[in-house]
Amino acid sequence: MARLLAPILSFTCEEVWQHLPKLPDRPQSVHLAKFPDAADVLGNSSVPEDDAQQHEWTTLLAVREQVLKALEDARTGKNIGKSLEAQLVITAADPAYSVLARHRDQLRYLFIVSAVTLVQGSGNGTGGVHVEVKKADGNKCDRCWNYSPRVGEDQTYPTVCERCSAVLKELERSASTKA
Ligand SMILES: [Zn+2]
Repeated sequence: MARLLAPILSFTCEEVWQHLPKLPDRPQSVHLAKFPDAADVLGNSSVPEDDAQQHEWTTLLAVREQVLKALEDARTGKNIGKSLEAQLVITAADPAYSVLARHRDQLRYLFIVSAVTLVQGSGNGTGGVHVEVKKADGNKCDRCWNYSPRVGEDQTYPTVCERCSAVLKELERSASTKA
């Protein structure tokens, strides 16, 4: 997803890319990665780029516009500083809700916030998306700078979030099995 959006949103996508776990074969910058084809995204070489897919991106980018505006307002109101200090409650009616729900796990990366809660709203049609910006729960993770109420939960890695402690454990485990 970050690769797909790179030409359109180069700065933001670079940020997203830098937040992804480092892999040996992943280039340093998103702009060094090759543009993915439909097969990369959909995991099926026979699926062509179709109208439905096009429509999904249009919806996601439209919601993103709305999110950026809401974050900007929150910053102006001094409620939050960096966007990772925020969590969002997005209330959406169909068809937007279904699109967002399909990408539920990626939304916080797309919007660069610490958490996104998706709520299905009533009503229908356009304008059925409402974005609420709140301060993120918990403390800042030393490793990824996301906020999580679970920072400090892991005794071995008390300054990082649950995702990072899982990654660190995995790194430690693979290092010890190689040794
Ligand atoms: Zn983290």
